Amino acid sequence: PVVTRFAPSPTGFLHIGGGRTALFNWLYARHTGGKMLLRIEDTDRERSTEAAIDAIIDGLKWLGLDWEGETVFQFARAPRHREVVEEMLAAGKAYRCYCTPDELKEMREKAMAEGRAPRYDGTWRDRDPAEAPAGVKPAIRIRAPLEGETVIEDRVQGRVVIPNKDLDDLVLLRSDGNPTYMLSVVVDDHDMGVTHIIRGDDHLTNAARQMIIYQAMGWEVPVMAHIPLIHGPDGAKLSKRHGALGVDAYRAMGYLPEAMRNYLVRLGWAHGDDEIMSTDEMIAWFDIDDVGRSASRFDFAKLENLNGHYMRATPDDRLYELFVETLPHLPGGAAMKADLDQAKAAQLRMALPGLKERAKTLVELKDGAAFLFANRPLALDEKAGTILDADARALLKRLHAILVETEWTIEATEAAVKAFAEAEGLKLGKVAQPLRAALTGRSTSPGIFDVLMVLGREESLGRIADQAA
Ligand code: GLU
Repeated sequence: PVVTRFAPSPTGFLHIGGGRTALFNWLYARHTGGKMLLRIEDTDRERSTEAAIDAIIDGLKWLGLDWEGETVFQFARAPRHREVVEEMLAAGKAYRCYCTPDELKEMREKAMAEGRAPRYDGTWRDRDPAEAPAGVKPAIRIRAPLEGETVIEDRVQGRVVIPNKDLDDLVLLRSDGNPTYMLSVVVDDHDMGVTHIIRGDDHLTNAARQMIIYQAMGWEVPVMAHIPLIHGPDGAKLSKRHGALGVDAYRAMGYLPEAMRNYLVRLGWAHGDDEIMSTDEMIAWFDIDDVGRSASRFDFAKLENLNGHYMRATPDDRLYELFVETLPHLPGGAAMKADLDQAKAAQLRMALPGLKERAKTLVELKDGAAFLFANRPLALDEKAGTILDADARALLKRLHAILVETEWTIEATEAAVKAFAEAEGLKLGKVAQPLRAALTGRSTSPGIFDVLMVLGREESLGRIADQAA
């Protein structure tokens, strides 16, 4: 069975590209009836943080991507990595290198001066360790093949051939006893039983070096699929302005996880012209062989449109749940959440169908719902302030007198407001506008009769009275 893994380094938030890599791994595992594992590559002790680990896990959960079993932490496995190096030493597949930092530097500079790629010259490959200078702690290097080539049959990149003379004897264990990243990844993937490595194509050159380690150990090399990175709309490397943000930033912008998944899956992969697909469809259709070789482009406008679709298509109960869950992450949302008592929750749930029609994101939904949480007398936004001129305020006074006498149902209030407009010789909109401004403090809102019902009789009449003159 297929075993994939997502292996982020916890040195920052879960980047949007990382989110897509995780999604592809997750989908491929689901598609094949296999499983996805999670490995936190926390070997860079200076840059790895608890907060980043939390952000990664939180981001994966938000995206709805789960993994099988315990999360593996790479640093904790260092003893196992050292054990493998011992095996390689014993088998003659690795050797101790006593070069000093100065010697290595000299080697690099010489290569550069001669216009060659800097690589280790093999000084200690066959030298007798008895000649080792006193006091130098050795690094351990792999005895890489000098001739032939290393071939990766990559499921996305195709056949990648690297002449072995370009791959030097890479370090497995540093002189301070710390395993290198290259070694750790291979040992972990092997021990975790990973069958398919799906990751960004920035790791393609590492892949060739990793193959050398697999071969030295006589281990089976997993299937590899190196997916092209996400670029900005201008084709250049993705910048912050163009979307190179953490997954949490997308949540804070009010995008739905369903929309995000749908958007991400189509960055580099497509199923015909299908723009919108359910998770089940993604699972049924996704295959790494269909991932393209060119970089995909991140497009905020597309994401926004897709999100608007999901806002409308998501069942109200689910949308409500998502909204309340997401509220603390939205700008100003924590205060709203704190005010969300039972009565407010009921109002909000009732207003949702009308609110979601006008919102492309949860942030817009929150802004639309703000009137429910406003205290009397309402603060008016600029447009509402303009609408409520002296004439409008006088009109509201006459309307108030009528609504006080009206039964509080949607039909009765609608009939009363319409009759009032007719009696005033005004189009309904000319009455609805100041009414909306008084009730919500804004110039846009759900249907005005819905607003009257959601706010209820007492609050509505109070808000109208506040603005009437
Ligand atoms: N930890 C690496 C990264 O965050 C990924 C390594 C891998 O997938 O092999 O880029």
